[in-house]
Amino acid sequence: MTEKEMIRTNNLNKCFGELHVLKDINITVYESDVVCLIGASGSGKSTLLRCLNYLERKNSGSIVLEGKEVDFKKDSVNEVRQKVGMVFQHFNLFPHMTVLENVIEAPIHVKKIPKAQAVKEAKELLGKVGLDDKMDVYPSKLSGGQKQRVAIARALAMKPDIMLFDEPTSALDPELVGEVLSTMKELAEEGMTMIVVTHEMGFAREVADWIVYMDEGRIIEKANPDDFFTNPKEERTKEFLKTTA
Ligand code: ADP
Ligand code: MG
Repeated sequence: MTEKEMIRTNNLNKCFGELHVLKDINITVYESDVVCLIGASGSGKSTLLRCLNYLERKNSGSIVLEGKEVDFKKDSVNEVRQKVGMVFQHFNLFPHMTVLENVIEAPIHVKKIPKAQAVKEAKELLGKVGLDDKMDVYPSKLSGGQKQRVAIARALAMKPDIMLFDEPTSALDPELVGEVLSTMKELAEEGMTMIVVTHEMGFAREVADWIVYMDEGRIIEKANPDDFFTNPKEERTKEFLKTTA
């Protein structure tokens, strides 16, 4: 069986001025893989996701999306973002729009889907994340966990092939973390290709196919969760795991 390659980077480098934030990042993610990206604050995790989603521009190296090298000059940002959805720590919902309006916005305005169809699909997605009864409320009336589930539904409404999550539960009260993680787990079980930056080691261990550990802009170790957590190879990984225990 040959696995379909969804996204790959070749010697990806990113600098902010003098600061070299991503150093020769090589990562390949196959269809339906769940990759958990972990590492200390400042190690470059968010920057890597943002480069994959075109929110930041790489300095050198390449990004290959479903077999095709993406080129800032030639490819439209919208085209890449339709394939690669992203969920952020701070939800970033549109506050002046209802839940339903948040979810249908991009399908209607970016994908040019007829409104009736966008609404139908949005309702299905909101049902899936357990929020069918919140369609007509504004984000300010929702808990953090509900907001994040709306953000997930909104990203899914574009029918992405890959979903990126940047610490989706870090801003939540502890009692709300579980509902978001279970939504993500369901998505993983349905076969979504996912790259998840997280400090939730229990989730990483249970759901990830691969753990990628980053330190100071480099990938230090990549392993399946059992090996990673029980038998890390690198000294820096061992030190990091002590801090999360
Ligand atoms: P992580 O997500 O692992 O905490 P980040 O990717 O956010 O790490 O940041 C990596 C490094 O890049 C940090 O030193 C951070 O301060 C720096 N950095 C991130 N974004 C910017 C930016 N827009 N401008 C300048 N420096 C940045
Ligand atoms: Mg970050």
